[in-house]
Amino acid sequence: MTTDNIKEETQSLNFLEEIIEQDIAAGKNGGRVHTRFPPEPNGYLHVGHATSICLNFGLAVKYGGKCNLRFDDTNPVTEETEYVDSIINDVRWLGFEPANIFYASDYFPKLYDFAVDLIKKGFAYVDDSTAEEIAALKGTPTEPGKPSPYRDRSVEENLDLFERMRKGEFAEGTKTLRAKADMTSPNMIMRDPLLYRIKFAHHHRTGDDWCIYPMYDMAHGQSDSIEHITHSICTLEFVPHREIYDWCIEKLGIFPSKQYEFARRNLSYTIVSKRKLLKLVNEGHVNGWDDPRMPTISAMRRRGYTATAIREWAKRIGIAKRENLVDLSLMEFFVREDLNKIALRAMAVLDPLKVVITNYPEGKTEFLETENNPEDPNGGTRQMPFGRELWIEQDDFMENPPPKFFRLSPGTLARLKSAYIIQCDEVVKDADGKPTELRCTYFPESRSGSDTSGLKPKTTIHWVSAPHAIPAEVRLYDRLFTVEDPANDERDFLELINPDSLKVVTKAMLEPSLASGTPGDKYQFLRLGYFTVDTDSTTEKLVINRTVTLRDAWSKAKG
Ligand code: ATP
Ligand code: MG
Repeated sequence: MTTDNIKEETQSLNFLEEIIEQDIAAGKNGGRVHTRFPPEPNGYLHVGHATSICLNFGLAVKYGGKCNLRFDDTNPVTEETEYVDSIINDVRWLGFEPANIFYASDYFPKLYDFAVDLIKKGFAYVDDSTAEEIAALKGTPTEPGKPSPYRDRSVEENLDLFERMRKGEFAEGTKTLRAKADMTSPNMIMRDPLLYRIKFAHHHRTGDDWCIYPMYDMAHGQSDSIEHITHSICTLEFVPHREIYDWCIEKLGIFPSKQYEFARRNLSYTIVSKRKLLKLVNEGHVNGWDDPRMPTISAMRRRGYTATAIREWAKRIGIAKRENLVDLSLMEFFVREDLNKIALRAMAVLDPLKVVITNYPEGKTEFLETENNPEDPNGGTRQMPFGRELWIEQDDFMENPPPKFFRLSPGTLARLKSAYIIQCDEVVKDADGKPTELRCTYFPESRSGSDTSGLKPKTTIHWVSAPHAIPAEVRLYDRLFTVEDPANDERDFLELINPDSLKVVTKAMLEPSLASGTPGDKYQFLRLGYFTVDTDSTTEKLVINRTVTLRDAWSKAKG
């Protein structure tokens, strides 16, 4: 997808906005718009969830409505409080405040009452069949199912058995509550779906209060209805559930929430499945859920992505009815665009080479005024120390330069950014012939802003004053996978991990203004990219993450 056709796609209303505007115009629900974002707290949120958050909260904002955060915590086995906390934090960090924070588990008593109501109305029954027996009678998409031998139990018997299920009288797997829907429906999900199962498991919120838990079809739509959600937006895999969603609401006679579906968003060179992400974490392929290479919201935050960039990206890609892979470069485009506005400019040398300016007085330091951010009129300035000994980038020097190399080499000139022009006179080398120090002269009349030297160097390079430099560890990240779509590759996704996704530079030298940097601070290191201070930083050691390079090297390489 190119940036251009995305623009076209999003200029008009998307299909959900059209539905909502029609509903408002028709006075449906009194013109009220109420959405929800319903994560299951079984992992950290990823970039796919971010699109769903931006969509649900964005619609509420756009139409003066509300959006709830609801934890779909009906499965006691996989859920944890750690995930709940991280999800709340991520939603707020993205810039959205839930109208309410609710838990489906708080509705367990109410959902139980709903189930009893369905039984009383003859729309649910207790089935003693095993999972295999149920599957055997289910039929196939082209062949109708057959009724369970327990389908015609009396209401009284069903009420009694269901209550005893709740009391814990029956073992796991021996009984279920099923909807008495339509065993001949072409929609397999309508063939008497399970509503409740027995599970003797401790729940992260309700503890051991329950030993029966509602299934998705007995929980999701009902929770929407309890909250008077008007537009329940989910991803396409729930299309076949829409019929039972409506069926339950109709049979129960409760608030008629409506379900709408959109396509999942997947980002290239990564995966968005909590199960696979959990595997990456548990098997140590990455260093935790917030490892900056991960596609989780917490990892993107730690890597230095901004909430603004993610929101703008989500807005730009819009929504679709068919699944597609969104190019990671587009996300990086929005990250650069935002960081360009807000990141402080600084100089850092990742692979330092010493420069000694032989005609600069020993012991002298001058302070050169430098803009913090030329893109920000209120960005202010800082004083950069300059002296006789500096660090420059190894890459910016070549002793025997090829014809197109315009950086520093013996006898050539280079401008030191915001400072002076220097000339390299002599190269000091170690026993292996590797340059260890450049002895240079500077031109005092060439100071930036008041240059009267008349010299025209072909290059400007960055530098850091050696005695003032702050050593740091810099982590350079690349894509986590070597192929565009690791989730749909015939090879196992673990085989497709990019072995070079993390490079650690241990001896970087940063300009002294970084001394006050705290985790989350964002910088543009001149000529190198956008960087942020990592949470691993201590008072002894700064750790810096590269958020994104200045330009998109991958797209260029692909041609
Ligand atoms: P995963 O497959 O990663 O475990 P999930 O769908 O099981 O995701 P939930 O916690 O159930 O995760 O998802 C919460 C909401 O986020 C749901 O409405 C779901 O449809 C939506 N969502 C999940 N993944 C994506 C995605 N890749 N793109 C858009 N929306 C998504
Ligand atoms: Mg799920």
